Amino acid sequence: MVRVNRVHPQSIAAELGIEPGTELMTVNGRELADFLDWEFLSAEDELVIEARLPGGEAVIYEVERPEGETMGLDLEPPTVRRCANRCEFCFIEGLPKGLRKPLYIRDDDYRLSFAYGNFATLSNLKERDFTRILEYRLSPLYVSVHATPWEARKTLLNNPKVPDVVAQLRRLAEGGIQFHAQMVVVPGLNDGDVLEQSLTDLWSFGESCLTVAMVPVGLTQFSHLYTGGSMDRGTARLLLETSERWAARAGRERGHAWVYGSDELYLLAGRDLPPLEYYGDLSQIENGVGAISSLRSRVAEQARLLPWIGRRRVGVVTGTSMAPLMPELLARIEAATGVELVLIPAENSLFGPTTTTAGLLVGADIRAALSHRTDLDLALIPAETINEARVFLDDATLDDVRGDIAFPVHPSYDFIDVLSVPEHLDSRSSAIAGR
Ligand code: SF4
Repeated sequence: MVRVNRVHPQSIAAELGIEPGTELMTVNGRELADFLDWEFLSAEDELVIEARLPGGEAVIYEVERPEGETMGLDLEPPTVRRCANRCEFCFIEGLPKGLRKPLYIRDDDYRLSFAYGNFATLSNLKERDFTRILEYRLSPLYVSVHATPWEARKTLLNNPKVPDVVAQLRRLAEGGIQFHAQMVVVPGLNDGDVLEQSLTDLWSFGESCLTVAMVPVGLTQFSHLYTGGSMDRGTARLLLETSERWAARAGRERGHAWVYGSDELYLLAGRDLPPLEYYGDLSQIENGVGAISSLRSRVAEQARLLPWIGRRRVGVVTGTSMAPLMPELLARIEAATGVELVLIPAENSLFGPTTTTAGLLVGADIRAALSHRTDLDLALIPAETINEARVFLDDATLDDVRGDIAFPVHPSYDFIDVLSVPEHLDSRSSAIAGR
């Protein structure tokens, strides 16, 4: 059974009288267990839907759906499949105590992998799940492989029952499923020979393995499960040598790089990032692969379209790993707009100084960076620091933080999104009133 959360006005579902709270039991005689069943079974043009209205009344809808028209309903969010691992580097195990509960949910859900590009280890897949993946053709999936040698993977995932991922991927590949792979590399556990074997195995899947991201392990000061070595500059350079050697082969034989070092790996290695074209269709950008090159390209193309703003001082808060790359970007925007951009690198007070990513800064860090300043007209903070409800990881809300700062503060993805909107740059008082 799946439950309806929202019915779109003037939709087929609205015409049928389906209401929020209606339970959808079967479609064309097949039971609905979750949103995937609904999505795939309701794709037919002729539907017989068994349902129960919120008052308890059982109803059967017979629907002939015009081609291309959706039913027009949203389901309640699914119960997320929990993970059975305790990975060496698990970010959730590395969270401090006392944060809001949803942050501690360790999901490992192939359904979300297909629907939203979340990475899943496949270690909790049951036979029924394989059947569904193959029947519904859930492709591509995003798979946290980390290591293909079985013993190494058991160690990395801290899970002696983890299945053989090579056999799992082979079964999926033979069923026509493609996947993107991620390798979080832990020095001493899955670099060196294990990494080489893993890339060899993944390469052997041919076009079924679409891309591989090589990501350096990232730890917080609370990462208590970690037994690996330190991810220093020399290790990062060795990893990039490996990824670029494989990428060169892939470029020759497959026409694209196939394996990509994450942006963080290049920053750690102190190496220049490849140009945007290197990253193809940016299929792992959400995994921090090509994000910086994409930002650079956007700024290069769009800064000249910004309006001339003139003498304003705008603070730009970022994490310590991104800070060295910012001057080049900010200079382009200064030249186009006439504003003075003041770079403000901030340390992470919640996760500790080893966590340098801009998107993990918390409300307290933004306050600490900005609340004492009197020299700015406006400040931009990384948009990734807040969720859809505009709440930081430390539970501070954007409005709370703004209340402690004497000038407007705007979340921004690329500076251009804020600076291209004239209202954000009105006089200080009107901007404050309108924020
Ligand atoms: S799969 Fe590993 S990293 Fe992901 S939530 Fe589970 S323990 Fe954490």
